[in-house]
Order: sequence, then C-alpha cells, then structure tokens
Amino acid sequence: MLNSQERSSSISSVFRGTFIHSTRETALQIREDELLGVDADGKIAFIEKGAELDRLSQTFGFSPTEVTQLVQHEFIMPGLVDTHIHASQYSYAGTALDMPLLQWLNTYTFPVESHFKDLQFARRVYSQVVKRTLRNGTTTACYFATIHTDASLLLGQIANDFGQRAFVGKVCMDRNNFVKHYKETNQESQAETCRFIAELLNKKYPLVRPVVTPRFAPSCTGALLGQLGAIAKKNNLHIQSHISENIEEIKLVKELFPDSESYTDVYLKHNLLTDKTVMAHGCHLSDEELVVFRETGASLSHCPNSNISLCSGILNVRNVMKHKVKLGLGTDVAGGYSSSMLDAVRRTLDSSKVLTIQDPEHVTLTFEEVFRLATLGGSQALSLDDQTGNFEVGKDFDALRVNVAAPGGPIDLVQPEKPKILLEKFLNLGDDRNIVEVFVAGRKVVPFTEPTTE
Ligand SMILES: [Zn+2]
Repeated sequence: MLNSQERSSSISSVFRGTFIHSTRETALQIREDELLGVDADGKIAFIEKGAELDRLSQTFGFSPTEVTQLVQHEFIMPGLVDTHIHASQYSYAGTALDMPLLQWLNTYTFPVESHFKDLQFARRVYSQVVKRTLRNGTTTACYFATIHTDASLLLGQIANDFGQRAFVGKVCMDRNNFVKHYKETNQESQAETCRFIAELLNKKYPLVRPVVTPRFAPSCTGALLGQLGAIAKKNNLHIQSHISENIEEIKLVKELFPDSESYTDVYLKHNLLTDKTVMAHGCHLSDEELVVFRETGASLSHCPNSNISLCSGILNVRNVMKHKVKLGLGTDVAGGYSSSMLDAVRRTLDSSKVLTIQDPEHVTLTFEEVFRLATLGGSQALSLDDQTGNFEVGKDFDALRVNVAAPGGPIDLVQPEKPKILLEKFLNLGDDRNIVEVFVAGRKVVPFTEPTTE
C-alpha cells in the first residue's frame, strides 16, 4: 500500500463532468458526471462515477477541493489524431488547388519544399504548423517534413517543445524528373535517413518518434524502397507513404514498376507494408489490395479534403471498414487546405454522402463513426492505441476540454442541450475557440506556455 503522501503526489489532476469517447465496441460512449484522474506520469488513473468522489479521493489521495468541475456546455473528449500532414506544405495551405496531383507536385510542392534547406524558414513554418494544429486539437500528428535532415530534426524539436505527440518523417526521394534540384542520390537518401533516425532517437523526446518516409513509389527507385524497408525493419520503426491517390499516378506506377501486380504490390515487395505502416489515400485500391492491407496490418489515412481539392477520387470508407483495414483521418495539408481535424471530420461525412448520392445502396457514415475515426481510429492506424485514442485507465491523457458555448465562439445555443447534441454541434460548427484546453500525456499544452528554447 502507498502511504497517503505518496498517493497524493501520484495524482496530478482530477476532472468532473461529461466525458465522450469511443471504444472498440461503441462508436460513441457518453459518460455523464464522471470523475477522471490523471497521475503524475500523465496517465489515466481512474474514470468512475462522480458519486464515488469520497472513496476515490481516499484511495488515490487527492482532496475533493482539487477537482476541476466542468461547467455547463463543456465536455472532455480524446485528442484528435492527424494521421497524415505535410508540415512543410503549411506555408501555402489554402492556395494552389487548381491542378491534379502530379502537376501540383511539380508546380507548387517541390519548389516550396526545396526551401527547407534554410533552417530559419523551416523554424518559422514548423513552429506555425505545430501551434496551429495543437490549437485545433491535434494531439497526435504524423508529419512529412522534406528531404532535409536538419530541418526535419528541427520539426521534431519544435513538436517536443510544444508538447505534441508526433511522428516525424524525413522525406526520401531519389527520383524526380521535373524539379531536378529537389531529390537525393540513393546513397544520400539512405545515409541521411539513418542519420535522421539516430539523431532523433538520441534526443530521447518522450512523445516524438521518427517514421521512415518514402515520398511515394513514383519518387523512389525500387532499390531505395527496398533499402527503406530494411531500415524500418532493423530499427522496428513506423513507415508512412502515399498510395492510389489518383488515376494518373497509378498508371505511372505501372510504367515504373512493370513487375508488380498492383500499386500495393510495389510496397509489399519492398517490405514496406507492416502493422506499423500508414498509407495516405488509397482512393482507388481494389478489394484484393485491401485484403493485403488487412493481412499485413497496414493502415490507411483518409484525407477527404485533399482528395476533393485535387480531384483525386473519393475513398469508400465503408468498404475499407468492411475489409477490416485500420483507418484514420488526415488533413494532408496542403493538398487539403485545412489543418484542422474538425474539417477532416466534416469532409469525411460529406464524401460519404456523395457516395450515397451516387449509389443509394451505400450506407452513409454516421457522425459517431467519424468521431471514432478521428480519435481512436487514428490511434489504431498509427499503432498507438495501447497509449492513446480514448479514456481507458492506463492510457495517456490526450484530451480536449470543449466548451460548445464558449464566449465569442461560433456556436449559439438556444437552450440547454444533451451531450450528444453538443458533440455533434462541435464537430459540425466548432473551431479552436471552443477548444478551451488541450492536454497531451497529461500536460496542458493549450493555452500555450511559450517554450524557453524559442
Ligand atoms: Zn500527402
């Protein structure tokens, strides 16, 4: 047994009010008048009925006066998980949406990304994107940086300084026929990837990890893809890339990799599909390819804003779910123009409704299902669901404190509403003004306390 002093130091905060989250079994679980305690390591120590206050305060050694009581119209939900975002493209988010993928990359993306050699520029953009996404409630982000190792390391440092949970990928590409100065040699790409991984791991940031990042098959030779698969395996690392985003791209992959049966087969052959892989898009994957995803445990990141903005396609999420492939949502900034995961939720619902318009047999996603994709689903897609994604005891407390009627906010409430209505209104109408506080691993990261290293 702990003595009372040890017990009191083990609980760092306790909240009382409405908690809304998802479980594996239930897309939406609403728990009213509950108490949630967070321990000194930032983990959820308990979540139980409010009526148990006296017993809990004795067991866990906190004073009932230390409990933070949520006010009317407030609830706490899990942090949002952005499974696919290009931090380096944030500078032109909201513009340059007038071309399909391959032309868009050559015209806008590669020239901008090549600027990240300049660390001052990188610091400016990366600080902005980390702050903006945190403010929008993204507690976990899976980032693409650029081919530049030092700037990619800087992104890791900035995410750590602001307290965001993040995967950071130094982009690898040894093939670029259009913007010739923005690529690496095969040797550079391998060596710099190894340096990036070693240096980032060496920093021992508690919440920031490297992810092996071949840009996508058309930007990489088969040799590089194979080497990156081996590096990921040797270091037991996550992998991220893109797949089957647009039809022209799929044709190009067929030309570049004539020996592969499909786009999925290209990655499979190079050992890049594992249970720690997340692939963006997959709009045009066949059912056979989805079976390969399920068998390997690889996941998909659904980025509907990007898919619509670049006229790439519409992923049939219902079909992906039917194939039991892990799935999260992504903003895909800047192909997606919004860095807010609330936008990803809305575009996911819109895209699903478009599929229903085209085929009335299609079963439209519900907002409850999309809420789960944006939280628990994202954590599953990144193989982090043992650590985050919902409010199970022992997981890290990654959470948003939401006030649907925040003063000056975008939502008007005419009358008191039930929590389910409050959540639906927040998902459809809310923005960062409603996100009063953001917690990652128990630490309050919004409102910001400016890091001293800035
Ligand atoms: Zn992308």
